[in-house]
Parts: sequence; C-alpha cells; structure tokens
Amino acid sequence: MFDWLIVGAGFAGSVLAERIASQRGESVLLIDRRNHIGGNAYDCYDEAGILIHRYGPHIFHTNARSIVDYLSHFSTWRPYEHRVLAAVDGMLLPIPINLDTINRLYGLDLDPVELEDFFASRRETIEEVHTAEDVVVSTVGRELYEKFFRGYTRKQWGVDPSQLSKSVTARVPTRTNRDDRYFGDSFQHMPANGYTRMFERMLNHPNIKIMLQTDYREVRDRIPFRKLIYTGPVDEFFDWRLGRLPYRSLRFEHVTVDCEQFQPVAVVNYPQTEDFTRITEYKHLTGQKNARTSLTYEYPTDIGDPYYPVPRPENEALYKQYEALSASRPDVWFVGRLATYRYYNMDQVVGQALATFARIQKTVPIGGALQPAMAVPG
Ligand code: FAD
Ligand code: UDP
Repeated sequence: MFDWLIVGAGFAGSVLAERIASQRGESVLLIDRRNHIGGNAYDCYDEAGILIHRYGPHIFHTNARSIVDYLSHFSTWRPYEHRVLAAVDGMLLPIPINLDTINRLYGLDLDPVELEDFFASRRETIEEVHTAEDVVVSTVGRELYEKFFRGYTRKQWGVDPSQLSKSVTARVPTRTNRDDRYFGDSFQHMPANGYTRMFERMLNHPNIKIMLQTDYREVRDRIPFRKLIYTGPVDEFFDWRLGRLPYRSLRFEHVTVDCEQFQPVAVVNYPQTEDFTRITEYKHLTGQKNARTSLTYEYPTDIGDPYYPVPRPENEALYKQYEALSASRPDVWFVGRLATYRYYNMDQVVGQALATFARIQKTVPIGGALQPAMAVPG
C-alpha cells in the first residue's frame, strides 16, 4: 500500500513526490506512461553526443527566488539569456520587436523616443483588448502584426489570432530599447547538467518508487494507494464525460548536421514562410562543444501528445466545468499544465506544486486513512 500515487513524472508530479517523500516521510509511487521522467522538460544525449530536448526548447527563467532556491537543491546552474530571431522579409530580426528590429526592417535610424512615436502612429485604438490579435495591433499596428505574429500564430495554434485569448501573444513584449533578450526575468539560467539529471536527483529518495510506461488508466484499479495526485489531462481523468478539451500538439523533427554552428542564436522563428514554426539549435543553450550540431524543427498539429492548452473563451468555459468536477473529488489533487489546463511555464508549475504541497501539509494528516474509492475516478 502506497501512501500516495502520483500520476505524471514532469515538474508537477516530481516536485510533489520529492516534497512528500522528504518532508512527510510517506511512500510515493510515481508513474508515467512515457519511458522517462521529466515530462516535457526531458533532455537526453543524441547519437552525436549532443544534449537535446526531446519536446522542444525548454529555457528556464523566473522572478521567484524561492523557486530557484528550491530547485538549486537538485542542480547547479549555467547562466543563459535566451535570444530569438525571426525570419521576416528575408532578414533575421530580433523578436521581441525592439529598436533594432524596426530600424533594420525599415532602414531607419530611430532613437527610443522616436520609436515610441512610430508605434503611436501605427497602433490601432481598440476599446477592449480581448484577443491575441488585439494585443499586438493595439501596441505596434497591423503591419508588424502581420509580419511577425499572424502567420506564426496561425501555424502554431491552427486558428487565427482573433480566435485566441490575449494571454497568448501577451507573452511576448514590445520594447523601444535595444534589449534583445526573449525574457525579462531576474533569473535566467539553465540547469548545468540538464533537466533530466535534475529530475534524477529530485527523485532519488528511498520513499519514491518510479514505474515508467505505466498508464494510470490501465493500472488505476490494481494499485493500492491512499491519496492521489494527478498531473495528466483533466478531461481524460473524467473519461471525457463533458467533452474533449482541445490541446495543441507538435511533431518534432530532430536532426544533426555537419557544421559547428547552424544559426546565430538558439531559436529562429519563421512567421512568414515554412510549415514549421521554429528551429532550435541546442549548443547555444548548453554551451556544449562539438564539431557537429543538433537541431529541432517544430511542426504544430492537432494529433499527438497534448502539449499546449488552447487559450480561448469556449475552452476556458469547458475547463471551468471540469474544474467543478475536480472539486467534487477532495481525495485527488489536480496539478500542472494539463490537469489545470493552464499555459504555464516551468517555474509556474513548480510554484503551483509547492503551493499544493503547502495545502497538503495544512489539511492532510501524515499517514491518513485509506481511500476505498481509489479505483473509481470521476
Ligand atoms: P508535463 O511535463 O506534461 O508532465 C505530465 C506527465 O504526465 C507527462 O510525462 C505524461 O506522460 C504524464 N501522464 C499524463 N497522463 C498520464 C497517464 N494517464 N498515466 C501516466 N502518465 C501520464 N516552459 C518554460 O518555462 N520555458 C520554456 O522554454 C518552455 N518551452 C516549452 C516548449 C514546448 C514545445 C512545450 C510543449 C512546453 C514548454 N514549456 C516551457 C512548458 C513546460 O513544458 C511546462 O510548464 C512543464 O513541463 C509542465 O510540467 P507538468 O508536470 O505540468 O506537465
Ligand atoms: N508568437 C508569434 N511570433 C513569434 C513569437 C511568438 O506570433 O515570433 C506568438 C505565438 O502565438 C506564440 C505566442 O506568441 O504561440 C507565445 O510565444 P512563446 O514564444 O511564448 O511560445 P512557446 O515558447 O510557449 O511555444
């Protein structure tokens, strides 16, 4: 009999397994249907010996010192500030849009004050900013929106930006200075030996047992446990009884090429051309030296593993109904990007998991009672 069954060995499940095992001394069975730990942050060495991210580029950035302090128990860090270029009108230009983006795109020599006037003359007045289109058009105007955002967003999400919530493009700021970093956070570092090594250290505890290639749906009637933490898709947990929540997927094409460096920065976005959205070159992220270099091309699709909740009002409304169902199961904790249907970054998921642990500490006595209903989800 395990004290806890935790479904999913990504950030949400692994942080909770670590906390429960080390702080409560309880036993944890951590399962994942994949053949590895780490969830979407999993990295591994490819045949060329280059550390790659199997599920696309994962760059760690946060403003929360407490989250850095927690993760620093399991990893040291390598400073890395992420920079992205966008292939627009035959040039490679900084994105987020900044002073250099505009000066190079239009052959101008504006200073930051003049750029503010430039944006002011182009932005559209939108009474209430609701959509992913509104956010950009009301900041930099329609032409820049069309060059940098419309095509990329249509590819990435399979719908027009006017059909998506503003939170999607609000992730990308606009700058009037020359700062070309993708993120503005106070802490921008990569785990020095990779994410998987960090997860291994997190989960290396005698109270934690891990079973991979194990799907909760197949074993839920057979594994004895007292409490459940679930980090998979919430609609699947409830057997899709209210309908399917849309999740956007990606097909990753991983290749190694015979040159030392393929592109000037870790990520190049393709908002105007190509079927893929972006190319990642990992050596920029890790600082690894190798005569060859490994890349990932991302092709968005509706078919495949669920990677992104799709932020739009009708999906958020359906999720609210699943959230109400979740609340009817006080014996189950729903945590993470899929179980709470939120477009969270890694640090936000770690924060959510640590907050969940704090709630468990307040409300669940150590070694609590057996849950006889364990076998019947929903
Ligand atoms: P996941 O990592 O998805 O883990 C959930 C796990 O549950 C999976 O391993 C899955 O196999 C398992 N599971 C699901 N259902 C079952 C079941 N029925 N039985 C058993 N196991 C199950 N964040 C950043 O901060 N920076 C970035 O640069 C960044 N880049 C990203 C790029 C891409 C392409 C993607 C898709 C995401 C990116 N993210 C990034 C977000 C980051 O991946 C997530 O915030 C984080 O990994 C979510 O952790 P999680 O534990 O909630 O979910
Ligand atoms: N986006 C865009 N063009 C870009 C970069 C981003 O249109 O060059 C939009 C797109 O809709 C994307 C969203 O902004 O999905 C958020 O970008 P981010 O880089 O945060 O996406 P993620 O890394 O989460 O896939």
